Amino acid sequence: MQPIKKNLFYYLGIALSLTIIINMFLTQVSKSTMEEIDYSRFLNMLDNNQIESVEIESDKISIVPKANKNDPAENKKIYYTGYLYDSQLISKMHSLGIKISIPIKDKQSPIISFLISWILPIGIIYLLSPRLMGSINKKMGGGVMSFGKNTAKVYMEKETGVTFNDVAGEDEAKESLNELVDFLHNPSKYTEIGAKLPKGALLVGPPGTGKTLLAKAVAGEANVPFFSLSGSDFVEMFVGVGASRVRDLFKQAEQKAPCIVFIDEIDAIGKSREGTIGGNDEREQTLNQLLSEMDGFDSSKGVIILAATNRPEVLDKALLRPGRFDRRVIVDKPDLKGRIAILQVHTKNIKLGDDINLEAIAMATAGAVGADLANIVNEAALRAVRMGRNKVIQEDLFEAVEVIIAGKEKKDRILTPKEKRIVAFHEVGHALAAAIQKHTQPVHKITIVPRTMGALGYTMQMPEEEKYLMSKDEIIEQITVLLAGRAAEEVEFNIQTTGASNDIESATELARHMVSMYGMSDKFGMVGLESLQNRYIDGRPVQNCASETASEIDSEVSRIINSCHEKAVKLLKDNTEALQKIAEFLIEKETVTGKEFMDILNSVQQKNDEQ
Ligand code: ADP
Ligand code: MG
Ligand code: ZN
Repeated sequence: MQPIKKNLFYYLGIALSLTIIINMFLTQVSKSTMEEIDYSRFLNMLDNNQIESVEIESDKISIVPKANKNDPAENKKIYYTGYLYDSQLISKMHSLGIKISIPIKDKQSPIISFLISWILPIGIIYLLSPRLMGSINKKMGGGVMSFGKNTAKVYMEKETGVTFNDVAGEDEAKESLNELVDFLHNPSKYTEIGAKLPKGALLVGPPGTGKTLLAKAVAGEANVPFFSLSGSDFVEMFVGVGASRVRDLFKQAEQKAPCIVFIDEIDAIGKSREGTIGGNDEREQTLNQLLSEMDGFDSSKGVIILAATNRPEVLDKALLRPGRFDRRVIVDKPDLKGRIAILQVHTKNIKLGDDINLEAIAMATAGAVGADLANIVNEAALRAVRMGRNKVIQEDLFEAVEVIIAGKEKKDRILTPKEKRIVAFHEVGHALAAAIQKHTQPVHKITIVPRTMGALGYTMQMPEEEKYLMSKDEIIEQITVLLAGRAAEEVEFNIQTTGASNDIESATELARHMVSMYGMSDKFGMVGLESLQNRYIDGRPVQNCASETASEIDSEVSRIINSCHEKAVKLLKDNTEALQKIAEFLIEKETVTGKEFMDILNSVQQKNDEQ
């Protein structure tokens, strides 16, 4: 993937400089232990009988002095000096008992020694340097070192190994992508008629719904190479780097056509240029380069650009213009059927027990995306291993759902008995409000085992069927369920605790949406007072109204909340016996199933009916 010409000189240069450094270092090391002396000093040493041994070479004599007790530092030194042929000298040394050695003159030619000390290291370093530089780049975050000509950042996969079978649900998305696959298979079929081929498609949807997976699957289905880059890869510290990466990416892609170029999280570069004060030069240049590349290349060659984002509303209008990402493929959160299919895909390679009912799990995970479900399945498998089983059973899956929703059980968090009582009544308050009202989802489980994500206990409700619409009555009842936790604290203990803060937040949000977005208040009717900004990530609503109206919204919201709160208090006061009985049971058992809960509730209600 790396153009050879560029690299040859780049790495050769590195190899050469490293070799010079190594050679300099080696001479420096040998110099520090060898010291040159003059010939007369050598003769002096000889006269004073200070020499242990000598080594005579053709033009040099190395002298190892006798051990000097006064100066141990001297002992490691070896001296050398020039050598003239002198037969007297040799016989004198011999008579003094000095060990004389004369190495056989090695016949190594200067060419060979040059080869060994220069060419060999250069060669080795040259061969190793791509890997060496790669790891250095990585350590430095690919920042300054990769400045300019970094093409290594472009990731190409020959085969993604993912097909549409790995992407469960999302049938509409797959359908519209299928045409692209067909086109990659057989471009002439389209060009013959004269049809212009789509240049690109934009995958839009919340995080974790499988956008990246789908893009890979398109490449896998079409059996073409897959180039992928994340939007944030383009944005670097130097202006112009991003633009050069875009250029490189398209150049490489055109060579490999037909292929798919996938730009993940494109909002990082494609953010609208409007409204940013001062602008961001780097991002703007990158975006401009991308736009011009998309206009410039010839789609009949078979390069298809896919991009993914979860914030389509921030994208620059120019990107969405026909002829660029003219297709928009919505990859939405899966519905019940989709969730079952995703669970099936992910449990395919997992040993399942006989009691597994994926439908029930899908039912309990409304709103979960593919990534969550994949996570749940894996979490369940891990739990099965932890429990020493060789199969995953339904209980593992349900526990995994709770871990994903509420965090792991935190058994070491000790509540005082008083706190435990309060938490128990709080949760039973929720459960009773859910069970007694008409339009609410049945209780699946109540627990007061604290969870790592902060919940001291919780009540799990499970829908009987998938729902896409909520009526005003249902929302009101849902708010009442949320407020019934606090109401139970008040009814039983006459106190208010911090445990209700999440409930209050959710209830307030629901009430606010009723007034400002769902047109469900008598006061404003169907006036849209707020709109959602980031539809695909939990966005904040934006107010479209005057500030006086905003304060009226607030009072309308608090009116709804207060009336629901009163309703919850009344409901619990009418059912104090059930509240207390179930709470006591919960305190004892810490976890109560939906069935146990309903049994106690029914028996209490029956008894009351008989009286
Ligand atoms: P996105 O790019 O939309 O944020 P990803 O494609 O990265 O989401 O999905 C993350 C993981 O979630 C995938 O690797 C896959 O395991 C799982 N996943 C998501 N959606 C699906 C799906 N529809 N079918 C199967 N698995 C899915
Ligand atoms: Mg992704
Ligand atoms: Zn609560």
